[in-house]
Amino acid sequence: MKGPKTLYLVIPCYNEEQVLNITAETLKDKIENLKERNIISKESRILFVNDGSKDQTWSIIERLCNKNSLYQGIKLSRNEGHQNAVLAGLMTAKAYCDMAISLDADLQDDIDVIDQFVDEYYDGNDIVYGVRSKRDADTFFKRFSAESFYKLLKSFGVEIVYNHADYRLMSKRALEGLAQFKEVNLFLRGIVPLIGYPSSVVTYERHERFAGESKYPLKKMLSLAFDGITSFSIKPIRMISIVGVVSFLVSVGILVYSLIMNYLGQTITGWTSLACSIWALGGVQLLAIGIIGEYIGKIYNETKERPKYFIETFLKN
Ligand code: UDP
Ligand code: MG
Repeated sequence: MKGPKTLYLVIPCYNEEQVLNITAETLKDKIENLKERNIISKESRILFVNDGSKDQTWSIIERLCNKNSLYQGIKLSRNEGHQNAVLAGLMTAKAYCDMAISLDADLQDDIDVIDQFVDEYYDGNDIVYGVRSKRDADTFFKRFSAESFYKLLKSFGVEIVYNHADYRLMSKRALEGLAQFKEVNLFLRGIVPLIGYPSSVVTYERHERFAGESKYPLKKMLSLAFDGITSFSIKPIRMISIVGVVSFLVSVGILVYSLIMNYLGQTITGWTSLACSIWALGGVQLLAIGIIGEYIGKIYNETKERPKYFIETFLKN
């Protein structure tokens, strides 16, 4: 080891005025402590990414940056969502740091494990995943939906670290790897394992949000889950093909059956069977078209290669 390395903490913030001052103070203590113990360099920083907040978040960040050079702030031109905000922060930090840790503004993720993250980095790991040991702080619904999500992804063959959100350390080299993924619709949890450099896991307990409310309502959670699946797996399309083959075979059977019955003079009397098959097949077809449509929509979005965010202001001193 040639002297301590530079650590950047990257914090996406969307309408976090209620927590930001306390978060900034807490993280500052953490960083100062690590600096004093000569574990990280004096150039280490805390980088806030304002993701188009509608409240006082940006003015708080500005005030923090003016007060102490430990803080840096990025202002995105509009709200681009959690994943893009994290990415904007990481890609900016990449130029200055040896390692960066992304964490939420509400400090739900236990910051005391940052020491372990850094230890793992010095032990030669490029990526350190923070994994929640239990989720008592989350509501039953959130726990249940998250659990089902991980199981579903796994069954679709998507490599993902169980119970890991976006609390992770990445080395400069890993960040450079991340920069090479050009997908517009980025799902970091799925992408990062694909980088493949040495990695390890640190477990921690997740706390409750100490103020403010979750910015992840059901709609956003579902959309993240759906993106997670469709970005990494074409299994749903394959499943359609299987359903198609099975229904084709069944319909051949029905055809033969009705021809024989017709030949024997026993024509099918009711419309029930007809109606049933029309509805059942119609349903399957619509579902199939819907799923295919989702992927086409994805291709459409990806081919546009639109920029993921614009940095309006970068405060640093
Ligand atoms: N966030 C963001 N942009 C958004 C939504 C959320 O930058 O559009 C940030 C938010 O400020 C927080 C983090 O992403 O720092 C996680 O959000 P939150 O704590 O609301 O999610 P939860 O912990 O409830 O899943
Ligand atoms: Mg949270």
